[in-house]
Amino acid sequence: MSRKTIILPKGRRARIGSPWIFSNEIRMDEAAKAIAPGSVVNVRGEDGRAFGTGYFNPRSLIAVRLLSEDCDLAVGADFFAQRLSRALKLRDELYDRPFYRLAHAEGDGLPGLVVDRFGDTVTVQMGTAGMERQQEAILAALDAVLKPRTVVLRNDAPSRALEGLDSHVKMVRGEGHRIAVEENGARYIADLTEGQKTGWYYDQRDNRAFIAGLAKGKSVLDAYSYTGGFGILAAKAGAREVVCLDSSAPALALAEESARANGVSIKPVKADAFEELARLGAAGETFDMVLADPPPFVKSKKDLEPGAKAYRKLARLAADVTAPGGILKIASCSHNIPPERFAAECAAGLQRSGRRAALIRSAGAGPDHPVHPMLPESAYLKALVYALD
Ligand code: SAH
Repeated sequence: MSRKTIILPKGRRARIGSPWIFSNEIRMDEAAKAIAPGSVVNVRGEDGRAFGTGYFNPRSLIAVRLLSEDCDLAVGADFFAQRLSRALKLRDELYDRPFYRLAHAEGDGLPGLVVDRFGDTVTVQMGTAGMERQQEAILAALDAVLKPRTVVLRNDAPSRALEGLDSHVKMVRGEGHRIAVEENGARYIADLTEGQKTGWYYDQRDNRAFIAGLAKGKSVLDAYSYTGGFGILAAKAGAREVVCLDSSAPALALAEESARANGVSIKPVKADAFEELARLGAAGETFDMVLADPPPFVKSKKDLEPGAKAYRKLARLAADVTAPGGILKIASCSHNIPPERFAAECAAGLQRSGRRAALIRSAGAGPDHPVHPMLPESAYLKALVYALD
């Protein structure tokens, strides 16, 4: 079957260089609508100008995701092996140990594909119909580049519904979904099939190290702790007391196990973070360091206003339980709230709490989460650290 072509009418392309082409930018005629979701296509202007090779989904708002600026690119195991090798080479330069996000979608030239590596185990997430159709080629490429012993498909991201895809988790190869993650000199236990997302949040690695650097002798409240990424490292760095607060019992159970594996202890508290912060605040309890790393409050553009308000409230409640002279960290993993807006909401919450605050660090995800320069949306993580009076 010959490759189909998607036509871009003149002047419609909003962002030249972006790997995303929206459905209102293309000629969505009957021929285009009939193309099977996820098919590899050429993209050309009306005048025949080449925009590149990508994959197409007539059902998605992001109609095309470009894989190359050349037309007629062969997309198969060799292509994926080449992109994955490039990604691997970069990680080899960045990290001593084989624990990192190996492929970060558009940032690594692999739109819709996320691969996390845990030694000889990988979790693979296909977020789009285009990547789903390439599953065999991707698994063959991973074999060629890495030969992983265990491969887990985490195809359960809610965003797959936007592409008309189902939700499933599958061990493609190997067994034993509980593994040890090595990060910043600590060992954590992660559950790759039952855990959230791909089982572990590598994106906060550098932020965890920064916080741990300040933790010696301190009392720490790790709110939205998940399996203790921040709290356990702080305890290892000599924190006097660490409370891990999360609504998920399995996450807290793993946090306790991981703490033991590192010869430290944490106090797990299973509660809703807003309720618990309000309760602690009313009781006048404070911590020298308060960390808040919530799930995304702005899941889509239409949630911006209520989500922004939730970040403001979180900043206020978290500041209320931060001791005088303490450190407060607030993060957002919503790519739908721009960094300036997030910072403004945190500032408003701090103002409301009546605390003077100095911003001492403004960071994103680590370098194993590269950002496509023409796709600011791919810089989703924002982590602000304040020193309070
Ligand atoms: N800080 C973690 C990642 C946090 S992910 C790390 O470093 O790995 C967000 C966490 O928020 C999840 O563990 C989820 O269970 C928890 N969560 C979601 N809603 C919550 C709520 N209302 N109250 C408390 N925790 C919540």
